[in-house]
Amino acid sequence: MICLGIESTAHTLGIGIVDDKGNVLANCKKSFFPDIGIHPREAAVHHTKHAVELVACALESAKISAEDVDLISFSLGPGLSPSLKVGAVVARTLAIGLNKPILGVNHCVAHIEIGKMKTAVKDPIVVYASGGNTQIIGFSGGKYRVFGETLDIGIGNMIDKFARKVGLGNPGGPIIEKIAKKGRYIDMPYSIKGMDMSFSGLLTFAVNSFLVKKEKIEDVCYSLQHNAYSMMVEVTERALSHTGKTEVLLTGGVAASRMLQGMLEVMCSERGAKFNVVPVEVAGDNGAMIAWQGLIEYRAGRRQDISETEPDPKWRTDEVEIGY
Ligand code: AMP
Ligand code: MG
Repeated sequence: MICLGIESTAHTLGIGIVDDKGNVLANCKKSFFPDIGIHPREAAVHHTKHAVELVACALESAKISAEDVDLISFSLGPGLSPSLKVGAVVARTLAIGLNKPILGVNHCVAHIEIGKMKTAVKDPIVVYASGGNTQIIGFSGGKYRVFGETLDIGIGNMIDKFARKVGLGNPGGPIIEKIAKKGRYIDMPYSIKGMDMSFSGLLTFAVNSFLVKKEKIEDVCYSLQHNAYSMMVEVTERALSHTGKTEVLLTGGVAASRMLQGMLEVMCSERGAKFNVVPVEVAGDNGAMIAWQGLIEYRAGRRQDISETEPDPKWRTDEVEIGY
């Protein structure tokens, strides 16, 4: 069975093709990262512009024709409403045109399942760290429960906003990580409330440290990452302790961060847990993870009528019934 998956929740339009053994046959994508940040309507225009070429790219990379596709899946939510609508329209067009089944899946759960499939981890505490989302998750009672999450902005958005405000370019994650290598720690806010994290105070403090207090950029980058990632590691460790789980899976675009990987690895080794990280090529938003999620759910018997494919921009991770 072959599934074509469409990702369009935010900055990226991705078209991926996956077979039922989990082989990624194609994973084409185009991202929209303007200097002033993402306007939802402009992101939708970007996705509309590139949809046809990306479908063609995916079919060509997979060396299959459209008729060989058995299932169309797409991100039903959560995400930016205008962007989600583009993905849904592309999915419906393909499903109706090719007379194939359609399944709208949860974007966050797809980040988890592609990580589980690629690393063979079984029952982890998941650190889901991306542009718009930051959640510490564990499976319990038929759902992926959110044990802790950001109370304001996502970790990736926080880092990208910092980079834009101090003129480092966009997206900031990889740029800041490189600069931070030469930095040393200066004191910054550290904000955990129960199991939840808050990043906006840290962002303001870091921007002012550079623009007003004239601290060195490498020290600010290092300390910003240090405190943000420390908060995530602390909540993850507490989630391991509360649940008795013994594995950690890091997934989402910020999983590419070597610093975050290293800090989680140290915490895991100190308490005898196994650390796993999603491969970088499927870490950020991509169509292959949506295709894989569609395949898993279709094989488990989930079906959806076209009339049920209206996107849900606020569909949370912990609202999804995991029926497989
Ligand atoms: P996603 O929303 O899952 O596609 O992830 C995109 C986010 O990943 C953006 O905010 C990037 O800045 C971030 N990112 C990518 N590489 C790195 C890195 N090496 N360190 C930190 N953040 C990163
Ligand atoms: Mg994402």
